[in-house]
Amino acid sequence: MRSVMAYDPQNIFAKILRGEIPCTKVFENEWVLAFHDIAPQAPVHVLVIPKGAYVSQDDFTAKATDAEIAGLWRAVGQIARDLEVAEPGYRTVQNTGTNGGQEVPHFHVHICGGRRLGRMIP
Ligand code: C5P
Repeated sequence: MRSVMAYDPQNIFAKILRGEIPCTKVFENEWVLAFHDIAPQAPVHVLVIPKGAYVSQDDFTAKATDAEIAGLWRAVGQIARDLEVAEPGYRTVQNTGTNGGQEVPHFHVHICGGRRLGRMIP
């Protein structure tokens, strides 16, 4: 049995999606909302979140429709091109769960770019 935690509708990204907390939006369509991270770790640091209620990458890929998954990843590519980090490159990060260091329990993809990033694996 999978042990993904239940989605908490009071998490901060759920509040941003409902417009209860402001964000600096960079992109929105039917599938996602994207906004600047409040504590940027690179010149460009954007978070892309699905509009659906998914706790994590694990929850998203288990439950989301193919259209939602495609919509999210196409948006990530579009945002990287729009923000002019697609060349010479950028990094996407999805922290998953406690061991992955995930702080906000609504699935999000970090897009980091605008400078040469250091190695981070492992
Ligand atoms: O992957 P993780 O859950 O650790 O990332 C959460 C991210 O959400 C952090 O980079 C943090 O700066 C960002 N954040 C934000 N706006 C908030 C709360 C957190 O951009 N109001």
